[in-house]
Amino acid sequence: MGKNKTTKGIILGVIKKKPVYLVALILMVISVVVFSLLPPQILKIIIDDYLLGTSTGLAKIGVIYLITFLLIGVFDFIKGFMLTIAGQKIIKEIRFAMKEKMGKIKATYFTHNGTGQVSSIFINDVDNINTLFTDGVISMAIDLFKIIGIIISIWFFNYKLGIFALCLIPIVALITSIFRKKMFHSQTRNLLEVGKVNNHIGETIRNMIMIKTFNKEAYMEGRYKEYLEDNYKTMDRVNFYDSCFSPVIQMMTAISIATVFYFASEGDNYLGISIGMVAAATNLITNLFAPIDSLGMELSSIQKGLSGVESVDDFLAAEEDVFKDQLATEELNHLGKGEMVFKDVHFSYDDGPEILKGLNLVINPGEKISFVGRTGAGKSTLFKLMVGLLVPTKGEITYNGIPVWRILNSEKRRLFGYVEQNFSFVKASVLEQITLFDEDISYSQVESVLDFVGLLEYCKGLDNGLLTEADEKLFSEGQKQLLAIARALVTNPPILFLDEVTANLDAVTEDKVVKVLKEAGEGKTILSIAHRTSTIYSSDKVIEVKDGMFYNII
Ligand code: ATP
Ligand code: MG
Repeated sequence: MGKNKTTKGIILGVIKKKPVYLVALILMVISVVVFSLLPPQILKIIIDDYLLGTSTGLAKIGVIYLITFLLIGVFDFIKGFMLTIAGQKIIKEIRFAMKEKMGKIKATYFTHNGTGQVSSIFINDVDNINTLFTDGVISMAIDLFKIIGIIISIWFFNYKLGIFALCLIPIVALITSIFRKKMFHSQTRNLLEVGKVNNHIGETIRNMIMIKTFNKEAYMEGRYKEYLEDNYKTMDRVNFYDSCFSPVIQMMTAISIATVFYFASEGDNYLGISIGMVAAATNLITNLFAPIDSLGMELSSIQKGLSGVESVDDFLAAEEDVFKDQLATEELNHLGKGEMVFKDVHFSYDDGPEILKGLNLVINPGEKISFVGRTGAGKSTLFKLMVGLLVPTKGEITYNGIPVWRILNSEKRRLFGYVEQNFSFVKASVLEQITLFDEDISYSQVESVLDFVGLLEYCKGLDNGLLTEADEKLFSEGQKQLLAIARALVTNPPILFLDEVTANLDAVTEDKVVKVLKEAGEGKTILSIAHRTSTIYSSDKVIEVKDGMFYNII
């Protein structure tokens, strides 16, 4: 097993490959900070030396003043562009690493973590890591440098002004953070309400026929109105804070500037600064508010980004299949005749109650066993344990003496044929529904297995034969069940698992499926979960799962 990749390792790897890029980026960041400190200084010179003083060439220095702004824009653009490119490169590498991990990760990971959870790591968490580059760490560094630079610049004019500017920082930070928090709360509540409205629309459309049949239009409309009203209420709060924030900050700026003016004029220039310095200081103080405000947002992006890093790292560190000691099916088949043994098997999901409580059983090759039991007894759980998707909390299930969960996932298909109750289509051709992109399975193998289940003629008659894009609507329930059987049988596995395969079928189709299964089962071990007797009668043994134990019925 290789060492697990980490987000940090991936980022460092990308940086190491392009050190020049990193240096250029740092240069751009420094340029943005330094150049944004220049305009107030030039303004001071313009006022003191050119407007009030005797220096000539105002137009020239005016042009320089404009050019600095132009350069700030250019550097800022290049910095943003470089960060986006670097961020995308890193995100691409992270996505590759995650895809690679996906193939190695233990199947049990996916029984413990739902689809939503896993896809959220792939989509949301990775996106949050991206914001770490685009408006996280670097922007925060720039804003911090800008604040420090502004304070130093003001201090440079006059230390009393410097102290005043320094005192402004915590006040502005406090006001913005209070506003941000309020805005965040009302936005989250608003999103929740928007979600409810959207869900309601979806639900109404999905259930339109039922709503019309049972005359529930008025009820649904009433609920929609309720959700909409709640939505508007929360929206009002969002708008209120949004529109308050700007005037409050502007007022703060005005008060600060007025204070500077007051002390510059009061008591025969108490601060002892020139008019140019007053102009420059007001400019700098105005500029001080924006980065303090941005810091709050950047901090929250960084927090989100870091939690994204944590989730992605957890995923990248998830347990992988144990490759050492693992045996290929051929070797495995040489170890014995194909006997499955349960030795004191206990199982519980996470911290839940014990579902299976000490099962012992020997399944001989070729044996046909039906498992019955009330709903929730643990039959499907039992199958997941038998194919190694779950691992017993105590005890062992072995195939030819090897614990089943240690069999390589890629090898399992040649050993276990799992016929699902609901056939899940992959977005591909009919042929690929059967091969599942396994290149070792030939076209003629697919043809013969489709022939065996009696679907060949139908599939060949489709627009493009076996290469027709498969679709839910192309097949009936019974045909889907036959496809599921073909998918399981195509690798000719010695053990077949059937989880209530005929539960959804009418009597005629069920007879057909049972007949196919009977023929397919010749010489194979067949383990089935059955609710109806039709699938039971072909079994050698019927075992009831009850209170976590096995009871032999026949
Ligand atoms: P049915 O006949 O209805 O299909 P079953 O015998 O197949 O039922 P299982 O699906 O094995 O029953 O479920 C056994 C118990 O385990 C149930 O109480 C169920 O709630 C619980 N269970 C099933 N899957 C999980 C899971 N992923 N996490 C936690 N508990 C689970
Ligand atoms: Mg079940």
